[in-house]
Amino acid sequence: MGFARSAGDCSVRWMRAVRGVALAAACCRAFVLPTKPRHPSLSRAAARDAPENDVYDVVICGAGPSGLSLASACARRDLSVCVVDPALDKPWPNNYGVWIDEVEPLGYGDCCDAVWRESSVVFEDAGAGDLANVTLRRPYGRVDRIALKRRLVDECGPSTVFVSEGARRVDHRDDAPSEVSLDGGSSVRGLAVVDATGFKRKFVEHAAAFDPGLQVTYGALLDVPGGHPFPLDKLVLMDYRDGYLGDDAAAVKRNERFPSFMYVMPLSERKIFFEETILASRGAGKE
Ligand SMILES: Cc1cc2nc3c(=O)[nH]c(=O)nc-3n(C[C@H](O)[C@H](O)[C@H](O)COP(=O)(O)OP(=O)(O)OC[C@H]3O[C@@H](n4cnc5c(N)ncnc54)[C@H](O)[C@@H]3O)c2cc1C
Repeated sequence: MGFARSAGDCSVRWMRAVRGVALAAACCRAFVLPTKPRHPSLSRAAARDAPENDVYDVVICGAGPSGLSLASACARRDLSVCVVDPALDKPWPNNYGVWIDEVEPLGYGDCCDAVWRESSVVFEDAGAGDLANVTLRRPYGRVDRIALKRRLVDECGPSTVFVSEGARRVDHRDDAPSEVSLDGGSSVRGLAVVDATGFKRKFVEHAAAFDPGLQVTYGALLDVPGGHPFPLDKLVLMDYRDGYLGDDAAAVKRNERFPSFMYVMPLSERKIFFEETILASRGAGKE
């Protein structure tokens, strides 16, 4: 399967439109794709209530990939687990890509809904020195977010309790289990509490000010009525070319300070996922 035109033939105007919009969105600090509506097949995760007086071995705040992987691993070890997350029955918002040779040994190879045999890294015209363009012959897949989330929830087994509420506060005591207060006013208690709320780490207390560099990313799934020019059998892992900025001197200067790259998953002749990522830095997306 393939297209007559290649990504390299893509017109600068086309690239300018797509990447310009994505970069503008990334600069607005849009960290995630718009949330999709609730998905009924995930509702099992939201079906249970936590009995108030139970003390769990582990309370996990956050049911993203980290929180649910941990919950599943704890359940395999017969630990009692309570997972709290206000978005339990929604699909994860981000579009995840993975190396197939990393997920297959974990048993999640079938949780990908698209696989590319090759991916490209393009430096040409990026002003990044003489780095050669590279084709990686290592299969890469798009995670089927609903399938993987459902699988992890199922692996948690019937003894894991899921609470569809946000955690508001965590109190640790020397002589009693830790207490996690929930948005609805109730609380759950655990011998260990894990903060799996993502990059904000809402409940981790830091000895020094927590000011990490951030990688700002914005993605969009597009339907291109006339078809897009990217070959279907190749993923674009990173394309650093900046020709799409044209003669916009301010944008070129900003791009030198905070370089960004394009990532493309061609899914069908019309469906294509784009992401623009500003490399990890302090201040990325603010200027
Ligand atoms: C657009 C985009 C694309 C990405 N693409 C990739 C990729 O291709 N491959 C890859 O490996 N990584 C990718 N990443 C990075 C990836 O998203 C993160 O590494 C991953 O999601 C981290 O998982 P997590 O479970 O730690 O946190 P998150 O996925 O952020 O999950 C945090 C969970 O905590 C919940 N939560 C938040 N506040 C509370 C609270 N107060 N109480 C309870 N729960 C709470 C949230 O609802 C959420 O479910 C991408 C990120 C973005 C933004």
